[in-house]
Amino acid sequence: PATLGVMGGGQLGRMFVHAAQAMGYFTAVLDPDTASPAGLVSHHHIQTDYLDEQGLAQLMQRCAAITTEFENVPAPALMTLGAQRPVAPGAEAVAIAQDRAAEKAHFVRCGVPVAPHAVIATPAQLAAVGDDLLPGILKTARMGYDGKGQIRVKTREELTAAWDQLKNVPCVLEKMLPLQAECSVIVARGADGQIVNFPVQLNLHREGILAVTSVYEGAVPAELVAQAVAATRAIAEGIHYVGVLCVEFFILEGGQLVVNEMAPRPHNSGHYTMNACDQSQFELQVRTLAGLPLTQPRQHSPAIMLNLLGDLWPEGGAPAWDKVLALPGTHLHLYGKLSARPGRKMGHLNITGATPEAVRATALQAAALLGIEAP
Ligand code: ATP
Ligand code: MG
Ligand code: MG
Repeated sequence: PATLGVMGGGQLGRMFVHAAQAMGYFTAVLDPDTASPAGLVSHHHIQTDYLDEQGLAQLMQRCAAITTEFENVPAPALMTLGAQRPVAPGAEAVAIAQDRAAEKAHFVRCGVPVAPHAVIATPAQLAAVGDDLLPGILKTARMGYDGKGQIRVKTREELTAAWDQLKNVPCVLEKMLPLQAECSVIVARGADGQIVNFPVQLNLHREGILAVTSVYEGAVPAELVAQAVAATRAIAEGIHYVGVLCVEFFILEGGQLVVNEMAPRPHNSGHYTMNACDQSQFELQVRTLAGLPLTQPRQHSPAIMLNLLGDLWPEGGAPAWDKVLALPGTHLHLYGKLSARPGRKMGHLNITGATPEAVRATALQAAALLGIEAP
């Protein structure tokens, strides 16, 4: 059988590996971590740095095609791989998604509204920032995730101090917007330009980390659903994207849709697809990578996903899965991480049911059993 490769061995890589193996592929994971969740379940685990020439050569030698599971894979590594093997998404698309300034410029080019913002890479740019962007959020242009590398600022003094605290690396200052809610859309696009999308996901974040995703009729107002899907498709098409792409949006208090950021890979907010849709986001990632046809995925059950963070793990123990799994329509996914830390993504619980009301009732019960704040 052909071998499919993935750069990065986290939980997203692990779920990709599972999907690829279910379709008969062998897999290879490149991740320096000897206990990486994907490396543990893959046929091959190349334990080198992402830029290591020998590691990259081994990956190319083994694999028919290669994908990524986190957006901070060095773009030069993808270029090296891409010269020899199909790589999806490609280095150019990943490079845009790795940089908030480039990403926002792309959204603007696609005609999708973004938060008012300014790039701060020099003291002159800092001095030139207009007061209209305050209060705001200063975000490092690169490498941030789960709210890391972001500081909320109210005044110019706080802005200056925040930029110093972030070591004066290139940043984007975004105006703080009044959010009513947040949502996201996942699309998959093939090398032939065929594109399909999942439904719009309603996302609740806590302390900068995704906590709950809800997907059912009415969770997001119908007119926003159409707008968000059209915007996401335009964003993918505008960079000739190949692979699975997620775009995150803000829904403002006035009801306007504003794009936040994109992830060039399957996304935490798409994990419900594993149990609520006829194809998961990881299956679509395999299809785009292997050049297989895409068909529009169909959600067959209303769903809520609860993220399971390390905070829920008692010292030396585990949450009471037996009680949670006694609830109907609960699907437990754990990533095989060897230690729990506060804020660490250890797994997720998908809840499906016949109606949104039934799913919500079960989610409330599960959250109470696990000690998660009610969604
Ligand atoms: P991810 O893990 O999704 O990649 P991240 O670290 O890249 O997260 P963002 O998505 O930029 O961070 O921001 C995290 C959260 O902070 C958002 O989901 C939203 O709740 C809040 N937030 C970010 N930017 C703004 C803004 N301009 N106005 C209001 N809230 C914001
Ligand atoms: Mg991000
Ligand atoms: Mg985000």
